[in-house]
Amino acid sequence: MTDIVVLGSTNMDLVTYVEKAPQRGETVPGRELRTIPGGKGANQAIAAARAGGTVSMIGAVGNDAFGTRLRSTLEHSGVDTDDLRTADGPSGTAHIVVDAEGGNAIVVVPGANGTLDHLSPGDEGVIASASTLLLQLEIPLPAVLAGARAARRHGVRTVLTPSPAQPLPGELLAAVDLLVPNEHEAAVLTGRTDPREAAGALLDRVPEVVVTLGAAGCLYAARGAEPLTVPAPEVTAVDTTGAGDTFVGALAVASGEGRPMPDALRWAAAAAALSVQREGATVSMPYRPEIDELYAS
Ligand code: AMP
Repeated sequence: MTDIVVLGSTNMDLVTYVEKAPQRGETVPGRELRTIPGGKGANQAIAAARAGGTVSMIGAVGNDAFGTRLRSTLEHSGVDTDDLRTADGPSGTAHIVVDAEGGNAIVVVPGANGTLDHLSPGDEGVIASASTLLLQLEIPLPAVLAGARAARRHGVRTVLTPSPAQPLPGELLAAVDLLVPNEHEAAVLTGRTDPREAAGALLDRVPEVVVTLGAAGCLYAARGAEPLTVPAPEVTAVDTTGAGDTFVGALAVASGEGRPMPDALRWAAAAAALSVQREGATVSMPYRPEIDELYAS
């Protein structure tokens, strides 16, 4: 039995580190170019596997060198890639500019992820064998919707990270158990910039919401309960790429183990705080003993 299935994207992140991100028409010097496996789907899969989950990934890589590396990175982190397809064409890429304060700006080119517009025979069985399905929005929406519906049919808990931000069809939200937007995504979905108000509005559409608030931690809201704010550990951030995905992957592991939500959120916040102290999305993701150590301190 697979505890966690991720249906989502794989991207090679082409990361440049700069003092300040360029404005339109401006050219700035970069310190270095790094190619780092990423994509929100792969990020969440790797985060969950490193946090101790049994994880399987449904997705697509290209038939290029990036695809070979993306697949082997997932495998080395312990993610089952039997349902990761190789598409005829380039892998997805994300062009990321990280500034001196650790902030980032990103352009994503879907590549192979764009071919994932439906579930393949066998995918439903993989989803049905899991206890949690993790979804994001870097693959075509019809596949996301099909995944959420399959999970609903089999009583699998569905967690959606609504990123990149976009308005969502009601039928997708109706099949989601837990929605995890950041502040910006919550505002796009609700038109409200106050996270508490946004979370309240989202509870009309999904039973549970976690709005992540960067260094300020997160806000958890569930129907019929008082919202709860969970602070993030105070750390020096050098690169916040993948922080939200680390948070979601670790949260899925902790709540899948039956830990109460406040406890699971604090553990996920410890995982995310470790990831922001190191450069790169997947390469910065912590393993379970480090998470336990920061959580206990
Ligand atoms: P975000 O997507 O920026 O809201 O971040 C997701 C999660 O990562 C937050 O809920 C925090 O738990 C963690 N996080 C992000 N930035 C920082 C930071 N500067 N310091 C500590 N934790 C952070």
